[in-house]
Amino acid sequence: MMSVKEALDIIYSNTRPCNVTENIDIFSSYSRILAQDIYSKDNIPPFNNSAMDGFAVIAMDTKKATKAYPKVLRIVADLAAGYSIKRRLKHNETVRIMTGAVLPYGADCVIKKEDVKEVSSKKKHGYIYVFKEVECTENIRYAGEDVKKGEKVLTAGAKIGPAETGMLAALGVSKIKVYKKPRVGIISTGDELAEIGDRLRPGKIRNSNRYSLYASILDCGALPLDFGVVSDKKEKIKNKIRQALKSCIDILLISGGVSVGEYDYVKGALADLGVKIKFWQVAMRPGKPLVFAALGKTMIFGLPGNPVSSLVCFEEFVRPAIMQRAGARENPHRNVYAESLQTIEKKKGLTYFFRVKLEEKNGKLFARLTGPQGSGILKSLVLADGIMVLPEELAVVKKGDIVKVQLL
Ligand code: AMP
Ligand code: MG
Repeated sequence: MMSVKEALDIIYSNTRPCNVTENIDIFSSYSRILAQDIYSKDNIPPFNNSAMDGFAVIAMDTKKATKAYPKVLRIVADLAAGYSIKRRLKHNETVRIMTGAVLPYGADCVIKKEDVKEVSSKKKHGYIYVFKEVECTENIRYAGEDVKKGEKVLTAGAKIGPAETGMLAALGVSKIKVYKKPRVGIISTGDELAEIGDRLRPGKIRNSNRYSLYASILDCGALPLDFGVVSDKKEKIKNKIRQALKSCIDILLISGGVSVGEYDYVKGALADLGVKIKFWQVAMRPGKPLVFAALGKTMIFGLPGNPVSSLVCFEEFVRPAIMQRAGARENPHRNVYAESLQTIEKKKGLTYFFRVKLEEKNGKLFARLTGPQGSGILKSLVLADGIMVLPEELAVVKKGDIVKVQLL
């Protein structure tokens, strides 16, 4: 049987990154993948400004200021964020300044409002007492300290999140070039499947994979296309696959029907359609019956029907494929390392994906299983912060051992 790593290598080598791009508005940019490098045309911030509400002064004027012998500075102007003054600050003068206002010429630091005493409450012509020396540069945000003019700020392949969107806006960029969203189809197979609104007849269960896979695709920033449900009849499955393949999809997910049961027809249907099966079965738990196939540029995943197996296979194989197809350069998983709170036995030769809750105590991270770990226990994922990945060669994890956890 193929290892998880070998399976992933085959998937990656069959995943051609998308080279079709489109121009979109910044409001639609969330979770898209950039198809261009973004350079800054300006300094951010564009000018030296105050980091505090306070008083702009010349640091030298505060030399030798003490509680007993404060320095007295005359207030010559009042400056709100969004404004500047032309006048150059002279010695023993100060400007009342708000956070974000342009630092007046001549001033080289800002004293926090709380650190001075105002003698007169008049806006102008008042005075302040300064009780201690201040350093020049204190409480100033310098032009370009965030981003320098000409700097490359975002790189093609970056996934756009809230911070990236804010940065684009700060740079004055409202239209960006991104890769087209991968189109990912979903087919649910199984005679046992009932729909959400259906009354559950004996032997039937609700189709949850249809929705959990749909959500997973959205979570990747891709476009889900639902092809509905098909019963366990080879001809019907073939027709459904045919229909999906005609819909310009990049990736097709088929849930169920990939195991060794009498009515597991997906592999046979794919073979009949001339689709090349790259592998079947991976040395993992849950998720062992996974099928991976390709037809031209379209990748096809036959996901095991058990709800946890199908989602674990999505996380481990489909998400990386979607992200590579989408043009993303970043690792699709974020890992942390945590101490196991339990001793866990496993079968050697299989990679295990246990669902865990993370706990933090005194700056250390601990992982605890989310209860029963059967491949049908969907609650094990609902309760999970991450997936504990236990490598093939391991037979046991002892309480206190450090384990890798992929964050969900
Ligand atoms: P299969 O992979 O088709 O052998 O399905 C294995 C088990 O997964 C079935 O017995 C069902 O209990 C469950 N199952 C299959 N498809 C779904 C689905 N779409 N939603 C929820 N559970 C499913
Ligand atoms: Mg089935």
